[in-house]
Amino acid sequence: MARHGGVGAVIASGDVAPVSAVGADVIVVGAGVGGLVVAHDLARAGRDVVVIDAAAEVGGLLRRGTLAGVDIDLGAESFATRTDAVAALVADAELPLELVAPRPQGAWLAVATDDGVRRARLPRRTVLGIPADPEADDVVAIIGADGAARARDERRVPLTADAEPSLYDLVAERLGERVADRLVDTLCRSVYSRPAADARLSQLHPGMWREVVSRGSLLEAADAIATGQRAGAAVGGIAGGMWRLPAALAEAAEAHGAKIRTGVAVHAVRSDAATVTVETTSGSLSARQVVIATGPKEVARLLAGHDVSARSARSATGGERSDEPAQTPAGVYLVAAAIAHPGLAAEPIGSGVIVDAALPTAAKALTHITAKWDWARAATPDGIHLVRLSARDAAAGGLSTAADVAREVSILTGIDVAAADVVDLVVQEWTDAVAGARVPDDLPAGVHVAGAAAAGTGLASVIPHARDLAGRLDRALAASLPSSSLHTHPVS
Ligand SMILES: Cc1cc2nc3c(=O)[nH]c(=O)nc-3n(C[C@H](O)[C@H](O)[C@H](O)COP(=O)(O)OP(=O)(O)OC[C@H]3O[C@@H](n4cnc5c(N)ncnc54)[C@H](O)[C@@H]3O)c2cc1C
Repeated sequence: MARHGGVGAVIASGDVAPVSAVGADVIVVGAGVGGLVVAHDLARAGRDVVVIDAAAEVGGLLRRGTLAGVDIDLGAESFATRTDAVAALVADAELPLELVAPRPQGAWLAVATDDGVRRARLPRRTVLGIPADPEADDVVAIIGADGAARARDERRVPLTADAEPSLYDLVAERLGERVADRLVDTLCRSVYSRPAADARLSQLHPGMWREVVSRGSLLEAADAIATGQRAGAAVGGIAGGMWRLPAALAEAAEAHGAKIRTGVAVHAVRSDAATVTVETTSGSLSARQVVIATGPKEVARLLAGHDVSARSARSATGGERSDEPAQTPAGVYLVAAAIAHPGLAAEPIGSGVIVDAALPTAAKALTHITAKWDWARAATPDGIHLVRLSARDAAAGGLSTAADVAREVSILTGIDVAAADVVDLVVQEWTDAVAGARVPDDLPAGVHVAGAAAAGTGLASVIPHARDLAGRLDRALAASLPSSSLHTHPVS
């Protein structure tokens, strides 16, 4: 739910006509990016597709908010450019969107030190916060000269790789706690929404782990792979906001004949040998195939009545099953604010700041929207700056009022912002935002899963997975194969 200025709901279900009981080739449950990509590609291929979404608007975690009269993103605000997934989709579906790069100044880190807070640019040559050179100036600015001296001799320490420790222990033991706490744990929490103590390097970055094993050193491995690009720099955006992507995709899907129904919640999915039936708040609907593309928690709920085996589950992060505990699906809480303070014009923390877990703040990251995106700067009235804070704790206390925003922005930027400077704010709570549930391999006949629950979090994962699933469904429908044959290729 989004709250504007702390009051009022953006999403309202509204009056809903009954959904058609006429069958379709494919029903897609959920009009986030994953569901819309499946719907678009199948509709373009000539399939009869119905999309049902509980919310009043399509887009799921890509949602528009309005701050000081400017449209902004309340969900994902960028995409990883490590693949061309978004660019290829935009080109292939001929979406009228302009892909843009953020302004080049990059982001900063705020770390806890004995005398308070230290703010410094994210170092250039790191991999997941592991530095290629601990004595580089931009690394010393964060870990101090003593931290650099502790890390420097790591190359000489033999690596015993029989049992891989947690990422935190691996780094703390070899490079010292300064590097582990200030760099690696901070980036791990920011990028993967979990502490480094709950992650393994081989899982988060298999290529880096292979280098570590073959070279016997974290520093040498980082030196071999680090690109020189600051962490978080390899992202792109869409002029006007990422929320435009699902809006354009839905329009294109409808132009190809897909029927999209919003404001209709699906409460059950039943499968028999020939058809799958979807029960909604507004009637039931059958199809040969159903794609569930809701958030991870809702996927688990809709599959709960089916006899799917936990044994054959695979990790929703896209990794193979291992002894890793599954992450609990989680929420995200953020507040976006418009601030009238001239000190922010100097862009004191570049495009934003990632916050050390040891710093006693309610926010774990701040994005300076108008410093990061030219389109946002151009759309925003002079003298106003737009920022977005994400909470450490998804159940967040302490991050909802103008006074909270002023306090956090002051700590994180070093600029003395007062509550009266905060001229507008929007609070957004996402309750089903972080993939963590496990998607079973042995789904019921005719039932498939798309989106982050199956592909892992992020558009670079969700889009290729959805396109692949649409291709497989189309081929199976063309061949009129029994739906169970689709499961010979597990959704991954
Ligand atoms: C704050 C935030 C920042 C992010 N930043 C980035 C980023 O910078 N880069 C990046 O790549 N990714 C980012 N992500 C992640 C990215 O947004 C998601 O991985 C992606 O959008 C998930 O898409 P999806 O299609 O799987 O599902 P969702 O977007 O979750 O869509 C699911 C849809 O299903 C609908 N639904 C749920 N239950 C039902 C039901 N019972 N019946 C009918 N409909 C239902 C919902 O209304 C929703 O529209 C961010 C996410 C958040 C929350």
